[in-house]
Formats: sequence, structure tokens, C-alpha cells
Amino acid sequence: MNTLAKLEILADAAKYDASCASSGAAQKNSLGSKGIGSTGGVGICHSYAPDGRCISLLKVLLTNVCVYDCHYCINRRSSNVRRARFTPEEVVELTLSFYKRNYIEGLFLSSGIVRSADYTMEQLVRVAQLLRETHDFRGYIHLKTIPEASPELIEQAGKFADRLSINVELPRQETLAKLAPEKNVGRTRDAMGNINGKITEAKAIRKEKRVRRRSGKKMNEGTFATGQSTQMIIGADGSSDAHFLHRAEDLYGNFKLRRVYYSAFSPIPEPSVILPLKSPPLVREHRLYQADWLLRFYGYQVGELMPDQHPNLDLDIDPKLSWALRNRAEFPIDVNRSPIERLYRIPGLGVRNAKRIVSLRRHHALRLEDLIKLRVNVKKCLPFLICMDHQPARLEWSSEKLRAHFAPPPEQMELSFGPPPKSVISEQSLISDRTTQQEARTGEF
Ligand code: SF4
Repeated sequence: MNTLAKLEILADAAKYDASCASSGAAQKNSLGSKGIGSTGGVGICHSYAPDGRCISLLKVLLTNVCVYDCHYCINRRSSNVRRARFTPEEVVELTLSFYKRNYIEGLFLSSGIVRSADYTMEQLVRVAQLLRETHDFRGYIHLKTIPEASPELIEQAGKFADRLSINVELPRQETLAKLAPEKNVGRTRDAMGNINGKITEAKAIRKEKRVRRRSGKKMNEGTFATGQSTQMIIGADGSSDAHFLHRAEDLYGNFKLRRVYYSAFSPIPEPSVILPLKSPPLVREHRLYQADWLLRFYGYQVGELMPDQHPNLDLDIDPKLSWALRNRAEFPIDVNRSPIERLYRIPGLGVRNAKRIVSLRRHHALRLEDLIKLRVNVKKCLPFLICMDHQPARLEWSSEKLRAHFAPPPEQMELSFGPPPKSVISEQSLISDRTTQQEARTGEF
């Protein structure tokens, strides 16, 4: 099989993995050296999809042969798909030739488990090692790691890669045991714990290195990936949004993950009979990303967003607005007096604008026109805030009335023999809603 045919199979097989964003990677500058692939050099542009996914990586599998049998995966042992396998040298050659043509700025490499976890991990490490040491490649490298591989191999991978990731896939051990019998949440957490330890250690060494460099002393240690991430599949098992967010909270808190990615399950050709027949609505993935944003940047706890009686996020309105409508007693909030943590709670007011407000109000008391100048989503904020020339009467609008005001109007279901709409809010309406687009791009909502 020639390289192009292999690439077709292995790039297609890699498309189900969403955890490939390069945001937050350390920039390596090749200016003034013989290295290639700098992420900080002149003339290299970075492109990210609105949801933060990096779109200029060579994203490929080393092989789609796998000895595991995860039911949700097209490459599982029992799947009847065409198989292919690259040698490490072939992946290196492809990466360099794509890079030199300016098609990509880095490599995202994953693999099915061939022979054993250690053997596969060795092959992945070899690709990164060849790129870094033989070809002096300074571009971004993201390696998918295998939790069952030995810690020494994972450590080696971290020395050559910018980002490591291990996919948790499903948030609960019960469903993982059913759908991916060879995988185990505990083992994945152990591997993440080891990686986090190495990242922290390397960070401390790099800090010391900077101090020593200033005093003229040299150190060679301290090279390790700068972060780790993971992906969970939504809608393949019966897990609720609360299960996903509790697992994400655990991973951010205990292992300092850079990102948790949520990927809506998409039915694969020749699916296993225990899988659902259709994908969950794409808007569910969107709401989970919004809730994840609230956990990381707005100071919310999962328990607040997901009270016991609501284990799933509201698909019609965003989770911040949903929290506000359940907690009307907290509002209205005075933008001229309240601490910044309270401003973060106002629907439609993001972290960036809350910081701007705090800095502006030192000079003068804010009025509505100031908020408009800041491009705050005033339509959404008004029922929840007080400023110099605006004070909503408490409970002037009931929570039900407000929810109906912000939720999209109900759609008349058509009698049609075509495929059913994917969600209550169609994906088209999500994309065409400029406010939602802006919120997805900036995280201000
Ligand atoms: S180990 Fe990875 S590649 Fe293999 S079946 Fe499971 S998800 Fe697919």
C-alpha cells in the first residue's frame, strides 16, 4: 500500500479524536538557529476553529490496527475496516514534507494498540524523538499516550512532545467496563497523576534554570510537555451531564489538565449493537463546553450548575443563565459596588468585561451607555444588574417569563419523510445566531 493510501485511511480514522488543540503550548523560536517548525517565528500563522480546536496539525494515526475492543471505536478489534500502518520514519517524512509546504504547523499523533501498550508507545516516542533529535523539528507535537504503557515510556514521550493526552472516553467505570472492557478509569488517573508530577517538576526546574542562566550557570534538565488534556465521548453511554462535569472537575482539580474536550458520539459504520443509533444533539456538546468554561474561569462549582434534581444541562438556555434563573434572590447585582466574583455571575457579562468594569468604575460610576460601549450583551444583562440609570424591579419578570424570553421559540415539527431534526435548537440556528457565535469565540457569556 502506498503512503497516500495509508494516509487516507489513517487520517480518516483519527478524525474522531477532538483533543488536539495546541493552545497554551510553549512557543519555541527557531530564529537564529538551524531548527525548523518554530511556533513563534515570523510568517507562521495559527488557525483555530471557533471552539478552540487547532486546524493546522497533521492529525493521523500510526496504525488503526488495535488489539482492544472498545465498542464506540471504529478501529476496534472486531470492526471490519481497512487497516493500515505507518512506520515511524514514514510519519516523520510526512510531517516534514507537509510542514515545508506550509500545510501544517505541527503533528497530532495517536495510534491503535498494536502488539502491546509498551510496543505502541515506543513507536510513538520514536516518531517524536526522530523529529526533535534527528531533524531538529521545533513545531508543535501532541502525542496520545497509553495509560497501560510503562511510566518510563510516558516520561520519554513527555520529553519530546509539547502536549500529552490520555482519553478518559467515558466518565464512569461501570459504563467503561461495558463499552471498553480493557480500559480502566483508575489506571488512567494514575497515568495522569504521573504526567502531572513530571510537568510540575519540569516547571520548577525551568524556573530554577532561568535564575541560574541569569547567574551564568547552565542546566540541561527541565524539558517536559507543558500540559495534558483528555476527551470524553457524550451520548455513547447513559451518563448524564453531571457525570461528565464531575469527572472534568476531578481532572482539572487533581491533575491540572489544560482542557477536557467533549465530543458528541457519532455513529460509526458497522456499529456495535450496544451503542445508540443516533448522535446526541450537537447543542449538548456546546452546553457542556459552556459549563466547563464556567468551572474554569467563572468560579462555579459543579454542584451549583447541576443540582440533584437537574442532572442534565438545559439545552435551550446557557448554563449561566439557567443558574441565574434558579437563584433570582442573588440579583440584581450592582455593577458599581459588587466584588468582581459577583459580576462574573451576571448572565451576558463575561470575565473580560467584568474586569473592564472594575477598572472603569474607579474613575466614574457606570451608566448603561458605558456598558453598551463595552459591548456587553445588554439585552441579556438588564434584568440582572443595577447601574446608575437602571434598576430593574426585583421579580418584575418571573423566572419562567425570562426563560421564555431567552429560549428560542418552539419549532413546529414538520410532517416529513426526511431525516428528523438533530436537536430542539437546530445546529443551523446555533451557527446563525451571532450572539452565540461571539460567545463561543470569546467565552464571554
Ligand atoms: S484502544 Fe483506542 S484505538 Fe483501540 S479500540 Fe480502543 S479507542 Fe479504539
